[in-house]
Amino acid sequence: MIKIGVLALQGAVREHIRSVEACGVEAIAIKRKEQLEEIDGLILPGGESTAMRRLIDKYDFMDALKQFAKEGKPMFGTCAGLILLAKNLVGYNESHIGVMDIKVERNSFGRQVDSFEADLAIKDVAENFPAVFIRAPHIVEAGENVEILCKHNDRIVAAREGQFLGCSFHPELTENHDLTAYFVKMVKEAKQKQLV
Ligand code: GLN
Repeated sequence: MIKIGVLALQGAVREHIRSVEACGVEAIAIKRKEQLEEIDGLILPGGESTAMRRLIDKYDFMDALKQFAKEGKPMFGTCAGLILLAKNLVGYNESHIGVMDIKVERNSFGRQVDSFEADLAIKDVAENFPAVFIRAPHIVEAGENVEILCKHNDRIVAAREGQFLGCSFHPELTENHDLTAYFVKMVKEAKQKQLV
């Protein structure tokens, strides 16, 4: 049995919980850092990365989040969550949690296309995934151990590096739970490894 947490400081929390539950797995909203000890995998939702960062600092979450990553537990960052995971951010000297070997640019699809939907083929996940982009970031550079799972208009919009999964869009805002299911599988496999 695994349990997945959704960082619940700001952003699209309830939708992620619903999506994890639709995959048949227990999900909880993480509001205190102590709760990280109860879960096997963590989703960092979309929202606003600078606002989320302020709350991470205010509630003293940063060290606990880094420790969670260090323990090898899977983390899935969507949209603003992807920004939180990235080691490098275009135009900024510092990262946030900074654990995934990618360089991310914020709001990089331009103002004219603030929000849009696209059907995407995501490697190992889905042929036709209905992806919702909202002031989305994209991955500008990916390290050698990063597997690119999906591109849209030549831009990397989903990738995995071992225990870390990230995407530019909002997978929780559709009825297609394939990407969440992929993360659930990552969490089950990581837990299995810990038990061996
Ligand atoms: N533009 C937001 C940011 O930079 C991300 C948008 C989102 O999560 N939908 O944090």
